[in-house]
Amino acid sequence: MELSPARFKTQAAASLADARLQSALEKLQDRFVVGRAQALLELDNADAVRDAAADIRARTLANLDDYLERFEAAARAAGAEVHWAENASDVNRILVEIAARHGVKRVVKSKSMVTEECRVNEALGTAGLEVRETDLGEYILQLADEPPSHIVAPVVHKSRDEIADLFVEHHRTPRRETIPALVAEARERLRPAFLAADMGISGANFLVAETGSALIVTNEGNGRLATTLPRVHVAVTGIEKVVPTLEDVATLLRLLPRYATGQSITNYVSILTGPRRPDDGDGPEHFHVILVDNGRSRMLGTDRHDMLRCIRCGACMNHCPVYQNVGGHAYGWVYPGPMGSVLTPALLGPAEARDLPNASTLCGACAQVCPVKIPLPDLLRNLREEQVEQRLRPAGERLAIRLWGLLARHPFLYGVASGVIARALRLYAGRDGAIRRLPLGRGWTLGRDFPAPSGRTFRELYVRRGRA
Ligand code: SF4
Repeated sequence: MELSPARFKTQAAASLADARLQSALEKLQDRFVVGRAQALLELDNADAVRDAAADIRARTLANLDDYLERFEAAARAAGAEVHWAENASDVNRILVEIAARHGVKRVVKSKSMVTEECRVNEALGTAGLEVRETDLGEYILQLADEPPSHIVAPVVHKSRDEIADLFVEHHRTPRRETIPALVAEARERLRPAFLAADMGISGANFLVAETGSALIVTNEGNGRLATTLPRVHVAVTGIEKVVPTLEDVATLLRLLPRYATGQSITNYVSILTGPRRPDDGDGPEHFHVILVDNGRSRMLGTDRHDMLRCIRCGACMNHCPVYQNVGGHAYGWVYPGPMGSVLTPALLGPAEARDLPNASTLCGACAQVCPVKIPLPDLLRNLREEQVEQRLRPAGERLAIRLWGLLARHPFLYGVASGVIARALRLYAGRDGAIRRLPLGRGWTLGRDFPAPSGRTFRELYVRRGRA
């Protein structure tokens, strides 16, 4: 079944029943949740750096057009070609044109979520190009013909055994068991692909307006090989990734690896500025940047505006109790977890992803750990309101919310109604005070019993104690 954000509930149920996935998801706790907390202890001014990072992102978005123009001018001055893509088809058309212009047959890619969003691999394949993912996780997923399930650790849902089986099936070599052996096997396959490629495609973690550079942050050497070995390089990235100066990037880089993987610094930070110059030791002969809108400019100045601050660290999903239990595929599109629950409806439209804004307990953990202070629970609440207004939620649910709203605005009525309901539920419950099937609320009791109210409401107890 092809994944879809419209099928969140079915996909989440399948994930909960998948024992292998559940054991793979346990890695999140140790590697990312504990890792982030420890890495932040090294920063004695962590709160101040976080404030500064949020401010950089907010300031840039407030003048996005200006910074993008500055980026374009600086990138062109450095010899790059800059292309503007309004949507996914523009991205794919531009890539195919660049490939045709330079006689490209083979493409290597480093990790890029925006190319997942635009289904670049499919489009290039249809145009007759051979495309090889080179990030280890993405390479594994390409063999498995699966989408990523996390924005930083795309293959977090797979165990070492599953990967070993996949390599036997595709490489037709004896089974290797250890992680270093599996990495070595992937490397043996990927090296020839780098050497044979005519074009490299990467994303960009940031675009630097003052220098016209695309900056990529990675833990694997594939990023450097994909951006320097082939004679043509194309950086494909969202328009929101621009940052004014290299100093601003330095601030963001103090947070990104810590929040993403619990590292104080990543193995590689590559700053790509134009094609190779005559005295450069390496680098592409042709350097292109594709600036992708694909729905982002529609978010500017709306309730979704703050979501554009996202630096794709993945911390919100690592700390989200829903993501921790259902994993990334349940969300059905490129961006999972709390950030995906805002971004997917914003980019695809609220009707395409009606359950995602509800795929959150609103516990607030996501906002607490977001390095750029995106108020994710507020954005999710806005989306829920919008869905009710647009009649995208079931009629019964809308009626219940209206009724609750009416009662909440009339304290006397609220007191009477809550008293009646509490007593009715008490009578309805079994002797042990547990409700096994809640009328009009089956979702609550499908997986657990609902404890019956005591029979008196908080307000009644409060009055009884003479504090009213
Ligand atoms: S919303 Fe915040 S925590 Fe989540 S990926 Fe984006 S920057 Fe990271």
